[in-house]
Amino acid sequence: MSISENLNKLYHSFDNSVKLVAVSKTKSNEQIMEAYQAGQKIFGENKVQELVTKYNSLPKDIEWHMIGHLQRNKVKYIANFIKLIHSVDNFKLLKEINQQAKKNNITIDCLLQIKIASEKTKFGLSKDHAKVMLESEEFKSLKNITIIGLMGMASFTNNDEILKNEFSSLNDFFNNLRLAYPNITVLSMGMSYDHKLAIQYGSNMIRVGSLIFGERN
Ligand SMILES: *Cc1c(COP(=O)(O)O)cnc(C)c1O
Repeated sequence: MSISENLNKLYHSFDNSVKLVAVSKTKSNEQIMEAYQAGQKIFGENKVQELVTKYNSLPKDIEWHMIGHLQRNKVKYIANFIKLIHSVDNFKLLKEINQQAKKNNITIDCLLQIKIASEKTKFGLSKDHAKVMLESEEFKSLKNITIIGLMGMASFTNNDEILKNEFSSLNDFFNNLRLAYPNITVLSMGMSYDHKLAIQYGSNMIRVGSLIFGERN
C-alpha cells in the first residue's frame, strides 16, 4: 500500500481525540510530501541534524516534533521552530530548553519522558523524579517552557500483558498529575506495533513510522 493509503487506514482506526505524529526519520522529502499531501501535518524526528535539514526544505506549516534523545548542546538548533519536544528526560535539558526559548522570545511545549519499560536502554525519568521536579521552586521559575504532558516507550515485546501493564501505569500517573497540573493534557504513547493497545490505555498522541512509510533500513 502507498503512504497515503496507509495514512487513511490509520486515520479511520481512531477518532480525532488522538493526534498522529508521523515518524519520518530516515525517510526522504518526497516520502514526507506524499504524507503531507494526504493531509498529515505533524511529523516526528529523532536526530537534530536531520530535523533541521528537513525543516529548512519542507513546507513551513509542518509541525515538527522532536521525539528522540536530545543533547543539551543541540537545543539551540531547533529552539526557533520546534513545536513539541517529547523527550525531556532530565532537568538540565529542560533548563537549556527554557534558556533557548527565552532567547527566541517564545515558550516551548515539552513532554516529560517517563521510563516505563524494564529494558536498560530506554531513556526516561522515573515517576518519582518527575514529581519532585514538577514540585521544585526551580522548575516553577522556568517561564519559557510548558510541560503539556508525558511520553513513554513500552518494552519491545509482543507480550500484551507486559505492554498493558506499562501503558496503564503511565496512564495512571498521567491522570494523577492532571489533577494538580492543568497544563498536562497530552499522553504520547504507542508506536506502529502497539498503538492500538496504547489508545485503549488512554494515549491521545501516537508516534507511528513504519506503518505509514514502510520499514526502515
Ligand atoms: C522510531 C520511533 C517511533 C516510531 O517507530 P515505528 O515502530 O516505526 O512506528 C516512535 N517513537 C520514537 C521515540 C521513535 O524513535
